[in-house]
Amino acid sequence: MIEISSLSKVYAEATVVDEVSMVVAGGSITAIVGTSGSGKSTLLRMINRLVEPTRGRVVINGRDAATVPGHLLRREIGYAIQGHGLFPHRTVAENIATVPRLLGWQAARTRARVEELLRIFQLEPAEYGAKFPHQLSGGQQQRVGVARALAAEPRVLLMDEPFGALDPIIRGQAQDDLRDIQRRFGTTVVLVTHDIDEAFRLGDHVGVMSRGRLLQYDRPAMLLTHPADPFVSRLTGTADRALKLLSLTTAAQAMEPGAAAGDGPAVAATDSLRDVLAQLLWSGAAAATVRRPDGSAAGQVTLAGILARGRSD
Ligand code: ADP
Ligand code: MG
Repeated sequence: MIEISSLSKVYAEATVVDEVSMVVAGGSITAIVGTSGSGKSTLLRMINRLVEPTRGRVVINGRDAATVPGHLLRREIGYAIQGHGLFPHRTVAENIATVPRLLGWQAARTRARVEELLRIFQLEPAEYGAKFPHQLSGGQQQRVGVARALAAEPRVLLMDEPFGALDPIIRGQAQDDLRDIQRRFGTTVVLVTHDIDEAFRLGDHVGVMSRGRLLQYDRPAMLLTHPADPFVSRLTGTADRALKLLSLTTAAQAMEPGAAAGDGPAVAATDSLRDVLAQLLWSGAAAATVRRPDGSAAGQVTLAGILARGRSD
C-alpha cells in the first residue's frame, strides 16, 4: 500500500504538484492520467525520491519513504520508463540482473530469475539473454525494460509512460502482459500515462491530474458516471462513454442463466461487454453463449442485458 498525503513539489515559483493525496491499495494497479506537463512524472518520481518532495509525505507499506536513503529505496521499488532506458553496452541478461547484483544476490539465484523473467516476457533465454538492446525490436526492448524493473521482485512498480513508443498491437500485448504479471506477483503498480484508454484498460483506480492537482481518483466506472470536474468529463470523452463503460464490464458480470439460440456467438467469461456487443452486432444475434474453457455453456449475455449496462444510472 502506498499512502500519499498532501504531496507538493515547488520549483522556484511554479507549483508543479499541488497537495496531492491518494491511497494506492496493495496489489492493485493505479493509473495516473493527464495532459503533458500536468505533473504526472513529478508525482511518480516523488514516490521513489528521484525527485525530493517540497512538502507532504509518502508512506510505502507502513514506512515513511523520507526515512530511507534514496538509493536504497530505489533498489526496492521497480521503475520502468518510456524508451526503456536499457544500458546499451550490457547484454539483455546483464541489464535485467542490474538490481539483483546491487543487492548482492548469489549468481545462481540471479541467473534463475533472469531466465524466469525472459520466459514470462516470451523471450527465449538461450536466444535473447546474450543479445544487446540494439539487436532487439522496440517491443522487445520495452519488455526487457519492464523485466529489469521486476528483477528483484519489488512489491512496488512505478511506470512512466512505459508503452508510449509502441505501436498499437504490440502495445495491447504489453498491457496484457503487465496485467498477467501484476496478478501473478501481486505487485502494487502506479502507472503514468497520457492515454485515457490505457488508463481505463489497466487501472483498478484511475487518477486524473491537471496543473499539478489530482482532480479525481476513483474506479474507472465512477469517472465515467460521476465525473468530479468538467476536465474529467472532457478527458474521459462524453461521446463514447457508454462504450467505455461496457469495456469495463465482463461477460461474467452480465451473465444470465441459459444458452443462446444456435446462431448466437460464443464468448468467454472474461470478454468485455464491448467485445460481446461487437460480436452480437456482427452476427445479428440477440444473445451470446458464455463458454467455459472446456467448451460447456456457463450462461448467456443478451442484448437487452448489455443495453441495461451502458447507461449512467
Ligand atoms: P508530466 O509528466 O505530466 O508531463 P512533469 O511532472 O514532467 O509533467 O512536469 C510538470 C511541470 O513541472 C512541467 O511544467 C515541467 O516543465 C515542470 N518541471 C519538471 N521538472 C522540473 C524541474 N526540474 N525544474 C523546473 N520545472 C520542472
Ligand atoms: Mg511525464
